[in-house]
Order: sequence, then C-alpha cells, then structure tokens
Amino acid sequence: MALDRVTVERHDPAWIAEQLASPAARAVLGGSDGVLVEPRSAALLRVAPGAERLSAGSPILLGLEAGKPLFAIDLDGLDPVAAEALAGGGSVVGLRDAAATLTRPEAGLAAYLLALLHWHRRHRFCANCGFATGVTEAGGSRHCPHCGTVHFPRTDPVVIMLVESKDRLLLGRRSGWPPGRYSVLAGFVSPGESAEEAVVREVREESGIRAYGPRFVASQPWPFPSSLMLGFEASADGGEPRSTDGELEEVHWFSRDHVRDAALAATGRLALPPPISIARFLIDGWLRRGAPEA
Ligand SMILES: [Zn+2]
Repeated sequence: MALDRVTVERHDPAWIAEQLASPAARAVLGGSDGVLVEPRSAALLRVAPGAERLSAGSPILLGLEAGKPLFAIDLDGLDPVAAEALAGGGSVVGLRDAAATLTRPEAGLAAYLLALLHWHRRHRFCANCGFATGVTEAGGSRHCPHCGTVHFPRTDPVVIMLVESKDRLLLGRRSGWPPGRYSVLAGFVSPGESAEEAVVREVREESGIRAYGPRFVASQPWPFPSSLMLGFEASADGGEPRSTDGELEEVHWFSRDHVRDAALAATGRLALPPPISIARFLIDGWLRRGAPEA
C-alpha cells in the first residue's frame, strides 16, 4: 500500500488542523457492507468531503497519499441522505469481492480502511472503566477521559501453515466452505504463546499430526475483521490425519500431482483458496519449488 501513515505527525494537533483544512483533502468510505469503489475501475472512490464536514465529527486520517491527506469516513455513521450526497458516484462492494477486482495497493488500502473503521466502531467505550472514549491522534488511538487509558487499534495474530510430508500437503476443509474447497490449516495465537508454538499446537489440534520445524515465510493483513496472518511452512513425518477438535469437517494429505492439477484447472474435486490469499501464496510457492530430490 502506497500510503504514509504519518504516525509521528498525527500527534501534532496543529498539523492535523492543516490537513483538515487542506483543499486537497480526500476521503475513502467504508462500512459494514464493504468499501465504496469507483464504477468501472479497480480503485476506491476518493471523494472531496470539504473542510466543514471533515472537521465536524471525529475525523480519521488514514495518512498521506502522494503528500495529500486521505481520510476515512464510516458509511455506517451516515444517514442515507448524507451517504447518497457523498457517495453517489460509487457503489459499495464487499471486501472479498473488492479484493478480487481492485489493484493490490487499492486492496491494501481497503483492508486498512475497514480494519480501522471496524476497530473504532467496536471500541467506543473504555475496556478498563466503561466510560465513553474519544478519537485521538486523528484516528490512531482512542483516549478515555475518565481513567486516562489510551487504546490502540488491535490486530489479532493468526498462524497459517503449509505442512508437508513425503511430497504431500496437509489440507483441511471447514463446514460451510464451497464444495471441494480445501486449504492449509490456520488458527489464532494464544496469549503467552510464540507463533511457532501456535503452529505446532494448531496442527495437532486440528489434524492429530505432529508438525515440526516451523519456518516463517510471509504475512498478510486479513481484515475479517482484524487479523494478521502469519504464514509458515512446517514438516511432518506423516501419520493419518483426522479432525480431532471438530474445527475441520475433513482433513487429508494431498499429493503434489493432485494439488498441481487443482491449481491449473481451478475445477474438479479439489478447489484451492483464491489467489489473493496467503494460503494460496504458500501453496503456489510449494508447487513452484517442485518435488525434493529423491
Ligand atoms: Zn477508562
């Protein structure tokens, strides 16, 4: 995402006031139903809300885009007339659909927008004392005027891991997924646990398989609503996987040929996760590397 989050500047109220008054200020809009996108374009719609509207509520500054302030406006907080006046030129698209059509930087911006708006919507009261909190740092935090606690947007770490054994992948499916859809296993990191420990624990809980040697590969923000996916690879010596904790409907080893055919065909009995996901990134990386030397 090509946006400067201005984490230092946003502490300065005078600087924030300048951004609010800037004629170059723009806003992107999102809500519970998704993000506002331009018609026939792979971009979020930028609107010019005007200084008066921006300064009226508790403005949330996402950052600077090519030096120009870019704010976030929550569609859920607008009455229908105001929403129509501001957003009339665009259409609201769910984030999963938007992610498939938006350019990568725009998809990243959409993820940031919805994750931040969601956090503000769900943290209007202090978790420490129950008092109403207010927006501070132009959306970078919330402050409780009663007990003084400062609340920061939270991100929940999730491990997602490609487990390999004898040139096969461990893939599972959750109930409710489209027919044939399988993916690598995943789960939340528990308090007091390292990401590596979470990999081993989740694999054992969800499949009964003992994974070892977890290696970090890459991460991806996943705003459903506020996760950070930590992508790992791990090894296993084999064994018969079985769904042990009820999280997965089915879990199996899949051969390289089977997974490659599914990646190429995008049809058939095995359906892999969509290209936008880190799950698919891990699987494609494994396919590209090819079989280990015999
Ligand atoms: Zn408080």
